[in-house]
Amino acid sequence: MTAVDDKTVVREYFNATGFDRWRRIYGDGEVNKVQLDIRTGHQQTVDTVLSWLQADGNLAQLSVCDAGCGVGSLSIPLAEAGATVFASDISEKMVGEAKERSQATLGQSTNPTFAVQDLETLSGRYHTVICLDVLIHYPQDKAAAMISHLSSLAESRLILSFAPKTLAYSLLKKIGDFFPGPSKATRAYLHREAAVVKILESQGWTVQRNAMTKTSFYFSRLLEVTREKG
Ligand code: SAM
Repeated sequence: MTAVDDKTVVREYFNATGFDRWRRIYGDGEVNKVQLDIRTGHQQTVDTVLSWLQADGNLAQLSVCDAGCGVGSLSIPLAEAGATVFASDISEKMVGEAKERSQATLGQSTNPTFAVQDLETLSGRYHTVICLDVLIHYPQDKAAAMISHLSSLAESRLILSFAPKTLAYSLLKKIGDFFPGPSKATRAYLHREAAVVKILESQGWTVQRNAMTKTSFYFSRLLEVTREKG
């Protein structure tokens, strides 16, 4: 499958069965045990990012780009905490849901700003660029290009999460359960942490914080890298 195919498949998935599935997982309604486990793991990733940003005490001065924002699980609390957030996603349906959730939490606020856009075509500069649980949908070469592009948008900090390759085969098997039925067409790709760090370091980034979220069905390596504003 080519990279272009991957993106088309991912877009279609998150506008159809993937939307229904992930909207539920990223919600608070009733779900099955596997989905509940993934919900718990994902929330831990979001909470870790929020705690890192809040610990620095300068959220109100920050412009943040949340690339592949999904239903706004991070963007909405970040905006609530004072950051200026630009949130975008390739899926129109996910962005529609994010807007509804934002309105329910923040009223008619123009922060976050939402856009339906794939992250490869994003432009502009942000203090911090964040991309959570998106790279899992792309093979290595494509993920490397995405990381490089995100890097070009970030002035001082980049925060990425991905499924690490170290847990390889057992993880692959479990990830198969994430996409049951017709959505099997959506593949899950694991990425070697060393390879991701190498790409980041080649662009002048230094790892500052590193965390791993691991539940039974959810695995995500979280990296925060920083560099002097250039
Ligand atoms: N980052 C969100 C979170 O952690 O709550 C959502 C994670 S969800 C597993 C993956 C999201 O990435 C989906 O909403 C999907 O539409 C989006 N996505 C996938 N490929 C993308 C791309 N190339 N550009 C922008 N968004 C993309």
